[in-house]
Amino acid sequence: MTHVELPQMPSFRLDGRHALVTGAGRGIGVAIATALAQQGAHVHLAARSLDEVAAVAAALRHDGQQASAVALDVTDVAAVRAAVAALPVLGVLVNNAGTNRAKPMAEVTEEDFDAVFALNVRALYVVTQAVTGRMLAAGTGGSVINISSQMGHVGGPNRTLYCGSKHAVEGITKALAIELAPRGIRVNSIAPTFIETAMTRPYFDIPGFKEQVLAKIALGRLGRVEDIMGALAYLASDASALVTGTSLVVDGGWTAQ
Ligand code: NAP
Repeated sequence: MTHVELPQMPSFRLDGRHALVTGAGRGIGVAIATALAQQGAHVHLAARSLDEVAAVAAALRHDGQQASAVALDVTDVAAVRAAVAALPVLGVLVNNAGTNRAKPMAEVTEEDFDAVFALNVRALYVVTQAVTGRMLAAGTGGSVINISSQMGHVGGPNRTLYCGSKHAVEGITKALAIELAPRGIRVNSIAPTFIETAMTRPYFDIPGFKEQVLAKIALGRLGRVEDIMGALAYLASDASALVTGTSLVVDGGWTAQ
């Protein structure tokens, strides 16, 4: 019989790599940090509320993982540069901190505009610039994952700011992926549908909102933070070694119709 060389399943493990997750104190960021830590990475959890990231890091360490907490406002450029300079060279960056101010355009203020774009776009850009700058200097390569949204691909009512900012994230993802591919740094996004977190909870109190959302999710349920973990482990690891400049849509079928 002919000898068949079977392909090796690429590894989803992240042992020996350092990862930074912004907005890791609650919501989706906790699931992201947990996924990375459980795959073997040393995870640095950043948010403004040190008590929250410290509690998540302590829970991860209690579970046998490697995790550290960093108090950081990612909209503060000087603080971002100092924080990134103080970390080891990272193998994985997850830009997760983000916000939404859902309202009709007629009611959007300049302050709303600046707040959403400062966090969802400018801070993501500045953090990525600082982290990839160190990856480039070290020549180590890496994986950058931007937490975008299905709203980075489609429109939605009362979401001009959110959709505008997340479409910008998709554009930055693609352009940077092309720019950094020759240096072994991959850049991708994850685009979730509605996930039940502190950010979305108020919307589900609006009468009829949950029904409208469920009517668009073909799989018939809201997202849970756990739904992001597999996508994250895939994009962070060598299992996705040939994947860059794309968006992994985790939306239960919302954007397929
Ligand atoms: P969340 O529950 O509101 O949590 C946001 C996290 O970001 C918190 O840890 C918060 O901590 C941190 N954060 C906010 N401003 C920050 C700043 N200036 N500097 C550093 N950290 C900051 O949000 P989420 O629902 O988990 O959403 C996370 C990401 O997923 C966002 O980018 C969001 O757009 C995206 N997303 C969410 C959904 C959804 O349905 N939930 C769907 C699609 C995409 P501090 O306030 O302590 O700083």
